[in-house]
Amino acid sequence: MHVEAQQKHFGGFFFSCNRATATFAHRTNHKKVVDEDHVSSSSSSSPSFEAFCDPLQSQQSSKLKPAGAMRNGRGTSEQWAAAAPGVRPRAASVRRRLVLAFALAVLTLVAVTAAAVALGVRFEECGGPEEGAAATAGPGRRGGERAEEEAAAAPWRASRLPGSLRPRHYDLRVAVRMDNFTFAGDVSIDVECVNATRFVVLHAHALQVSSVSVTANRPGGGAVRVQRHFLFPANQMLVLVLHRELKAPRTYRVNVTFDAAIEDELLGFFRSSYTLDGERRYLAVTQFSPTHARKAFPCFDEPAYKATFSLSLRHDPQYTSLANMPVERGGGDDDDGGGDDGWTTRRFARTPRMSTYYLAWAVCNFTSRETRGDGGVAIRLFARPDAVASGAGDYSLHIAKRLLGFYQDFFQVQYSLPKLDLLAVPKHPYAAMENWGLSVFVEQKILLDARVSSASYRMELTMVVVHEICHQWFGDLVTPVWWEDVWLKEGFAHYFEYVGTDFLFPKWNMEKQRFLTDVLHEVMLLDGLSSSHAISQEVQDAADIHRVFDWIAYKKGAALIRMLANVMGQRLFRKGLNDYLLSHMYGNAARDDLWRKLSEAMRSEGQGIDIGAVMDRWTLQMGYPVVTISKNRSERFATRYITVSQEHFLYGQDGRGNSSSLQWQVPLTVAMGNGSWVCSERLIWIHNKTETHRVSEMDDETWLLGNINQTGYFRVNYDLQNWKLLIQQLRTNPQVISVGNRAGLIDDAFNLARAGYLPQGVPLQLIGYLAEEAAFLPWHAASRALYQLDKLLDRTDDYALFSDYVLKQVASRYHQMGWPSNAANGDGSVLRASYQTEELQRELIMLACSFGNKQCHRQAVGYISDWISSNKNRIPPNIRDVIYCTGVSLMDEDVWEFIWMKFHSSNAISEKKILLEALTCSDNTFLLNRLLNLSLTSDLVAEQDAIDVVVHVGRNPRGRNLAWRFFRDKWDVLNARYGEALFMNSRLINGVTEFLNTDAELYELKDFIQSNGVGAGPALARALEVVEGNVRWHRLHRRHFYQWLRKAPSPAHR
Ligand SMILES: [Zn+2]
Repeated sequence: MHVEAQQKHFGGFFFSCNRATATFAHRTNHKKVVDEDHVSSSSSSSPSFEAFCDPLQSQQSSKLKPAGAMRNGRGTSEQWAAAAPGVRPRAASVRRRLVLAFALAVLTLVAVTAAAVALGVRFEECGGPEEGAAATAGPGRRGGERAEEEAAAAPWRASRLPGSLRPRHYDLRVAVRMDNFTFAGDVSIDVECVNATRFVVLHAHALQVSSVSVTANRPGGGAVRVQRHFLFPANQMLVLVLHRELKAPRTYRVNVTFDAAIEDELLGFFRSSYTLDGERRYLAVTQFSPTHARKAFPCFDEPAYKATFSLSLRHDPQYTSLANMPVERGGGDDDDGGGDDGWTTRRFARTPRMSTYYLAWAVCNFTSRETRGDGGVAIRLFARPDAVASGAGDYSLHIAKRLLGFYQDFFQVQYSLPKLDLLAVPKHPYAAMENWGLSVFVEQKILLDARVSSASYRMELTMVVVHEICHQWFGDLVTPVWWEDVWLKEGFAHYFEYVGTDFLFPKWNMEKQRFLTDVLHEVMLLDGLSSSHAISQEVQDAADIHRVFDWIAYKKGAALIRMLANVMGQRLFRKGLNDYLLSHMYGNAARDDLWRKLSEAMRSEGQGIDIGAVMDRWTLQMGYPVVTISKNRSERFATRYITVSQEHFLYGQDGRGNSSSLQWQVPLTVAMGNGSWVCSERLIWIHNKTETHRVSEMDDETWLLGNINQTGYFRVNYDLQNWKLLIQQLRTNPQVISVGNRAGLIDDAFNLARAGYLPQGVPLQLIGYLAEEAAFLPWHAASRALYQLDKLLDRTDDYALFSDYVLKQVASRYHQMGWPSNAANGDGSVLRASYQTEELQRELIMLACSFGNKQCHRQAVGYISDWISSNKNRIPPNIRDVIYCTGVSLMDEDVWEFIWMKFHSSNAISEKKILLEALTCSDNTFLLNRLLNLSLTSDLVAEQDAIDVVVHVGRNPRGRNLAWRFFRDKWDVLNARYGEALFMNSRLINGVTEFLNTDAELYELKDFIQSNGVGAGPALARALEVVEGNVRWHRLHRRHFYQWLRKAPSPAHR
């Protein structure tokens, strides 16, 4: 599942590179980007982890923190087996208790027998459907025997399925009526009884169940009479109470007929619409992940209950239909003729074993284009006919074909199905969903109009396709046992967005470069808060499951996987993954299953790293460490030893004491050098709070550099002397330090200062070298950090000190790079080698225009004036958003009206989006208010775009108060509309609160939380911590910050 549609661009706390000056608003995209030029030196090669100058030698040997200090919850079969309750034998050997025990036993026996006779129930616990299926026991399993008995008597009261029955095969028939948006279905489920039970408990939600029956699957077995059936809405379950017990290990067939509405709510089996030649057309499509299959048919809707599915769809012949598998019978793919009764019935081939949430179907009147992948796999793109005819889907179809081959080669596991359809829908709750063989994408993430799309738009779209196709292996084929480990699939798919995109466009250098700013730096902001959580998090209730799909699962998951891949080396990493996929294909796996396979791969080459022991520290503990490296001054051989210490990095000083016990096993790579030489990196494992390590000879001029190429998920700090030496190195010859590390130093320095680990002047001093910086990535890291500061500072009296300083750093490189030519450079520009240049150019224009460079403003105004007077848009697509926003903010209302008009008339999705966002850049509060109100009341603004409007108005200093007030006034409406969509909800909350930084605003936020906070999920708690941090920064650090700027040397005289 790809959530970028909700959280893209401007994720929230610190996520935004957005900035708005006091004079005008300006926005920037978080562009996925490309850096073809990875200028590097000897220290920038990927870590080899070979000892370089001296053998590794830890001087300390204190023991690891006992594992018991961490949260329990290994998602393994062993753990489930151990945790599975049962009647525990009581020690009854004490003679003097015998009499009493006997008396009690008799009484208990009488009572139990009576109850058992009355209920016809055996008090035994049901096992999971397969290994680890219930890795996390439900509440009914935790409360001792009494709770167990209750659960056995009324298993629907537990939030998890009881596990007595295991589905083998579903025969599902669905009749879809597009004229009144209803559907009727019947499902026959072949189940195997694992533990004898009188109840059939499965999921159903918002379905009208009209009849149920159970029959034994054996000759002469006949019907099992159903005493009664009922829905238990609290747990979204359907319960059949039988007259007699089902026996293990027999098989039965459960039949349910049902009907329901095709709602307009984007989950389950839902409808949406689009306009073609002025006519409104409808389609109906499914979104079952994570817990919505139960809205479309009764099923065992937990991921470990894998089964095969045979699906038949009946519908009006003017529509076509799609499902996971190809059509087996009736109205072939090209033949949609109706049957005798005026309906088309399509029977789709039986699926392999799969989880319910990956089942999918669609009824629409789309057209398609097709290509063939390796091994004859049919790859088709379905979209509305006009989009298909215009070729808007061809790019995605082309890369999908290449990616299928790439993954097959990388994983050494064939794609499992005979076809893969990519379906572009106008509305979808996520960017995309990886249903097996039928992946669904929101149009913006798969259709591309090359003439007007910016490079960043194409890059985002590419990465979504790369992500979903990766899921065909990590997700569809091997599925996490339970939602606590959803990062096992999302982390992989997110990591492979970068690896797969590098395969398609090697010059983009995504994994080595763009990954750092967009994934690593971004998630470390979030994970540095004390309101963060461990990446593996326990969940039980359906209502909580959607919570696990957050940035921690995606981005921290990807960052940890990348760290692991680098520690292991690509070859062993691939070997481990191949083994993992082959061992668990068509089944489920937990994180320990992965660690085991990766450890085995390491052992096969004589490397005895226990991956599970290392990774538990990273997955079961929240947060990450800051590792401090310094030359050891106290040792006898002071010039040959370094001291390394670790502590939990937190933005708030208050929380640091509480978490002092957290420790990690840190794979730290260290390099050293001075003006004339560099010693390549070596890997040191840090296990303790503080360790001393021997390195090669250092003198006073030798600097140390940790976390080479930022492959590790942690921050690195140094003593002030070392920072000084590194800054000196950057000023004299930055190329000695790799592009990734230059970006990493910038990000670490700003965040260490923000959290109070470093004096405020250090990062400001560090970026003084930027005039020498020719690579995009360090500039991008710097601009992200500067925009964060900008949000804190732009209402302070001394703001000009800051903006002037930024402009000084930017000026020379901005003038040197100039502006892109205004030739239409949309098509293919991304593929050209100049990509790195275009990105840097864009970044510098963004910085210059938003911090108030007059020449930049004149250029932007010139472009807009030319567009208005000539009615020809000659603005290069790559900087259109910057220019539109700058124009709207600096120019009069006519420009706003002009952009508003263009927003209405534009058909290109990417263009429409940036036009809408530009409208939020106005200085005019009347216009901003109008826009805010329109966003909720008018269908001119699509539902999924309304949040963008509110968040972007909040990014405009003139709009901040408006957005914050609008959010509070309209909370009921907003919460009703987006409350369930957690990503949207948290983006909205972050967007309207991230800039609050005064005591009065903090009070307003607390007041709001007190009266409305219930049910808003974790986003409000996070917002509170961020705003408290903002207020604290002003109290503790602002004075020092401005003091440094007052004394700052100008770049020319440094
Ligand atoms: Zn995903």
